[in-house]
Amino acid sequence: MSKNVPSDTDSAPERSSSRSREGTRAIFPGSFDPLTSGHLDIITRGLKIFDHLTVGVLHNPEKRTLFSVDERVKMIQETLQGDAERITVKSFSGLLVSFVEELGTHVILRGLRATSDFDYEAQMALMNRQLSPHIETFFLMTSERYSYVSSSLVKQIAPYGGDVSHLVPPQVRKALAAKFSRT
Ligand code: ADP
Repeated sequence: MSKNVPSDTDSAPERSSSRSREGTRAIFPGSFDPLTSGHLDIITRGLKIFDHLTVGVLHNPEKRTLFSVDERVKMIQETLQGDAERITVKSFSGLLVSFVEELGTHVILRGLRATSDFDYEAQMALMNRQLSPHIETFFLMTSERYSYVSSSLVKQIAPYGGDVSHLVPPQVRKALAAKFSRT
């Protein structure tokens, strides 16, 4: 082995890899207020790389959200029920790295859209590495057709009755319709 390549014995055994007997695992954290087709695309492509994904739904009491954390978790669970064996949906609050440690993995999965995402994502990834050096952030570039899709865009359109069916999965479209009292 090259002298420059750290061996597994360089890190604590339980931290040496996200590849366990259960396979490779990663955490996809976010606000998901609400889940969009762009998020779903990252999840679907993430499942081609990792054996198991935990979708971490951030509960930040200081940030006003359209959907409560329980509503967001439920919508994601309903949308992903076909993949329930390989996906866990959990809420978390506080530091992301603490949540990652709690789950015993070391990979954070994030999506990247425009260059504007890059500055924020780089800052978060570097800060998380500072807090927990063994945690890696893994980025997937958005699919072109979802590059403009965001939860904020959905929240700007839905209250006025705009068609969001190409932006969100059906379960979320229904929840938005209920929220804004349309059927
Ligand atoms: P946060 O508030 O943590 O940014 P979001 O729910 O907005 O939470 O996003 C969660 C993750 O999904 C982020 O990494 C974000 O860049 C990514 N993401 C959001 N929309 C898209 C999209 N259309 N294509 C690819 N990645 C996306």
